[in-house]
Amino acid sequence: MEILFLLGLITLALLIGLATLVIVGLVLVLIFIKTSRIIVPRVTLLVVSMMEIPIKHILWTFKINTKHEGQDRIDLMLAKIRNQVYTKHFSEIPMSQRAIFLPQCIRHAECPAKLTGEGIICIGCGRCEAAKIKKEAEELGCMFFIVPGSSFVKRMIAKHKPKAIIGLGCYNEIKEGTAMTSALGIPTQGVPLLTDGCVGTTADWDELRKTMRLGT
Ligand code: SF4
Repeated sequence: MEILFLLGLITLALLIGLATLVIVGLVLVLIFIKTSRIIVPRVTLLVVSMMEIPIKHILWTFKINTKHEGQDRIDLMLAKIRNQVYTKHFSEIPMSQRAIFLPQCIRHAECPAKLTGEGIICIGCGRCEAAKIKKEAEELGCMFFIVPGSSFVKRMIAKHKPKAIIGLGCYNEIKEGTAMTSALGIPTQGVPLLTDGCVGTTADWDELRKTMRLGT
């Protein structure tokens, strides 16, 4: 009987703890949606990452729109926080140990580049911005890849062992990619795409160039 009572108490304490985390996460997300401000970044990252699914369900239930230009603002918030948290560590990594990953959708619809074991090798036709970014990355001494998906990113990380990563992608890809690289202890900076799609997507190239030069 005493054991059952104890189990009941533990379950109740767990439920109260989870409910508190969801409420705190909800408040932090709502503040971000209304003001674009991120309060206590590390706490926000921890709580919102843990409670993301229930928080999203509650917001959908109350018809609170979390979308902005087709992208989810919670994904944006998590991507921004991880960038913030890792900026200093990222900046300390030498250029030769940084890797830049561009998604294949950034290419022009008539891109002549071929997929190889090292990703899609840009031949510099100039139809999209990738050629310039590749040249700048090589001048800085960074590794540069155009990849067809996240499994390719994992393969290149395992092969080339970069100590810092820049990833261009949609908010959701950045959120999932930075979660994966932070689990590997690799400081990462995500730069969001400005438009979605299968080909010819656009990005904030100034933002990417600024990120490439962090710490110089
Ligand atoms: S610049 Fe490179 S990536 Fe862009 S379309 Fe040409 S070959 Fe493809």
